[in-house]
Amino acid sequence: MSQNTPLISAKGLSVHFEVGGGVLSRKTLLKAVNDINLDIPKGSFFGLVGESGSGKTTLGRAMLKAAPISEGTVTFDDGDGAIDVAGLRKQALKNYRKKAQLIFQDPYAALSPRMTVRDIIAEPLEVMKITKTRAETDARVREIAAMCRLNVEHLRRFPHAFSGGQRQRISIARALVANPSFLVADESVAALDVSIQADILNLLKSLQKDLGLTFLFISHDLSVVAHSCDHVAVMYLGRLVETAPTRTLFNNPHHPYTRALLSAVPSLDPDDRGKGEKLEGEIPSPIAPPPGCKFHTRCRFAQERCRKEEPQLRKMGDEHFASCHFAEELAKGR
Ligand code: SF4
Repeated sequence: MSQNTPLISAKGLSVHFEVGGGVLSRKTLLKAVNDINLDIPKGSFFGLVGESGSGKTTLGRAMLKAAPISEGTVTFDDGDGAIDVAGLRKQALKNYRKKAQLIFQDPYAALSPRMTVRDIIAEPLEVMKITKTRAETDARVREIAAMCRLNVEHLRRFPHAFSGGQRQRISIARALVANPSFLVADESVAALDVSIQADILNLLKSLQKDLGLTFLFISHDLSVVAHSCDHVAVMYLGRLVETAPTRTLFNNPHHPYTRALLSAVPSLDPDDRGKGEKLEGEIPSPIAPPPGCKFHTRCRFAQERCRKEEPQLRKMGDEHFASCHFAEELAKGR
C-alpha cells in the first residue's frame, strides 16, 4: 500500500440526531455532520480543525462507529480486506475496535480512579479476549507502558498519583494495547500545559513512526496542527470547507474561514500581529443552519449568490480542495 492509499474513507457521510420531542417541543433534526467525503491516507497524521460546534468530534466518532451513521459509508482497509464500518454489528464491531481506537480529550475524566494503571491498560485485552493468560496480559501491558514512557513502578499506582501528562500517557497506552492501526485523538493535548502538550505530541509522533499508525488528530488549535500534521481538513457547521497538505493549507489557504482561523494563530513576528481577517460572531446552530453557504453569516466576502447557493468542495490544486464560490479570486487577491 502506498503512503497515499487511504486507510479509511468516508463517502457522503452524514450524522443526524433527533433532538427535543418533550411535552413542550417538537422533534427537530440536528445535522451534526453532513455529506462528508474524506480519505485519510495510511500512515498519515491527519488534522481535523474547526471551532467548537463544527462537528469534528462527531465525525471522528462516526469513523469509529461510536456515533450513528445516518447516511453514506465509511470504509476501512488495512490490507486484510475492506470493512464497511456503517454495517458492522456485534462481533464484527468488536473486531473493528481492535483496529480503530479513540484517545480521549480529558486525561482526568477518562481513567477510573478505582483501578490501578495496570488494570486500566489491561482492560481492553481482557474485554476483547486478546490475551489468554494473566502472564500474557502483563507482558503486553509492560511492553506498551514502556513504549509510552511509563515504568513498571507506575503500573501499581492509581491515576490520582499522576500529573496530566502522565495520565494522558496512560490513556494512550490503553488505546494502543490492542494493537490498533488507526487512532482518533480528540483534543488529546488541549487540557495540558504547553510544555506537556509538546511532550505528548512528540510521543504520538514517535509511536506513529515506530508502529506505522494512522492518526485522525482533532483540534481547535491550528498552531498545534501546523507542527504535527501532514494533512489538514477544516470543518464548519458539519461540512468540510477546505482540505490540503498542511504546508499548502498554511501557505495558501483558499477558504475565508480557514484564513480567519489562521489569522487567529499568534505570530512570532510583531509586525504580523493583529493583521488578517478576524472571525466575528458565533457559529450558527446546526438545528437551524443558514441557507446557501453556511459561512455567509460571518464572511466579509459574502455576496447574494452565497446566501442562496451552497458551494461544493472543488479542486484548487494538488490534493487541495475548498468550498467557496470565489475561492480562486480571493486567493489571488490576498
Ligand atoms: Fe464567503 Fe461566499 Fe465563499 Fe461562503 S461562498 S466563504 S460566503 S465568499
